[in-house]
Amino acid sequence: MIKLLIDKKRCVTCGNCEAWLPGLMAHVPRGFMAVESADTETIRQAIDSCPLDALTMEATNEA
Ligand code: SF4
Repeated sequence: MIKLLIDKKRCVTCGNCEAWLPGLMAHVPRGFMAVESADTETIRQAIDSCPLDALTMEATNEA
Protein backbone atom coordinates (compact mmCIF):
# COMPACT_ATOMS: atom_id res chain seq x y z
CA MET A 1 0.00 0.00 0.00
CA ILE A 2 1.20 3.47 -0.82
CA LYS A 3 0.06 6.53 1.04
CA LEU A 4 -0.24 9.65 -1.05
CA LEU A 5 -0.09 12.74 1.10
CA ILE A 6 -2.08 15.74 -0.11
CA ASP A 7 -1.17 19.19 1.16
CA LYS A 8 -4.64 20.66 1.33
CA LYS A 9 -3.26 24.15 1.90
CA ARG A 10 -1.56 24.00 -1.49
CA CYS A 11 -4.22 22.12 -3.44
CA VAL A 12 -6.40 24.35 -5.62
CA THR A 13 -8.60 21.46 -6.82
CA CYS A 14 -7.48 21.96 -10.42
CA GLY A 15 -8.16 18.30 -11.20
CA ASN A 16 -4.89 17.49 -13.00
CA CYS A 17 -4.11 14.56 -10.73
CA GLU A 18 -7.55 13.04 -11.34
CA ALA A 19 -6.42 12.04 -14.83
CA TRP A 20 -3.96 9.64 -13.19
CA LEU A 21 -5.72 8.79 -9.95
CA PRO A 22 -9.48 9.19 -10.29
CA GLY A 23 -11.12 10.06 -7.01
CA LEU A 24 -8.08 11.73 -5.51
CA MET A 25 -9.74 15.11 -5.07
CA ALA A 26 -12.37 13.57 -2.80
CA HIS A 27 -9.52 12.82 -0.38
CA VAL A 28 -8.19 16.39 -0.21
CA PRO A 29 -10.08 17.30 3.01
CA ARG A 30 -8.59 14.27 4.72
CA GLY A 31 -5.08 15.10 3.52
CA PHE A 32 -4.12 11.69 2.22
CA MET A 33 -5.20 8.87 -0.05
CA ALA A 34 -4.31 5.23 0.39
CA VAL A 35 -3.45 3.79 -3.02
CA GLU A 36 -3.48 0.05 -3.50
CA SER A 37 -4.39 -0.51 -7.13
CA ALA A 38 -2.13 1.88 -9.06
CA ASP A 39 1.52 1.20 -9.88
CA THR A 40 4.19 3.57 -8.60
CA GLU A 41 4.78 5.01 -12.08
CA THR A 42 1.13 6.09 -12.27
CA ILE A 43 1.42 7.67 -8.85
CA ARG A 44 4.58 9.50 -9.90
CA GLN A 45 2.75 10.81 -12.96
CA ALA A 46 0.00 12.14 -10.69
CA ILE A 47 2.58 13.81 -8.46
CA ASP A 48 4.30 15.37 -11.48
CA SER A 49 0.96 16.60 -12.84
CA CYS A 50 0.33 18.75 -9.77
CA PRO A 51 1.25 22.38 -10.53
CA LEU A 52 1.33 23.25 -6.81
CA ASP A 53 3.57 20.39 -5.66
CA ALA A 54 0.85 19.37 -3.26
CA LEU A 55 1.40 15.62 -3.56
CA THR A 56 3.97 13.46 -1.80
CA MET A 57 4.32 9.70 -2.02
CA GLU A 58 4.88 7.82 1.21
CA ALA A 59 5.71 4.20 0.53
CA THR A 60 4.75 1.96 3.38
CA ASN A 61 5.82 -1.40 1.99
CA GLU A 62 8.86 -0.71 -0.15
CA ALA A 63 12.32 -1.78 0.86
S1 SF4 B 1 -3.16 18.34 -9.21
FE1 SF4 B 1 -2.52 19.17 -7.21
S2 SF4 B 1 -3.62 21.10 -7.00
FE2 SF4 B 1 -4.63 19.94 -8.63
S3 SF4 B 1 -6.30 18.78 -7.59
FE3 SF4 B 1 -4.50 17.45 -7.66
S4 SF4 B 1 -3.45 17.79 -5.69
FE4 SF4 B 1 -4.86 19.51 -6.01
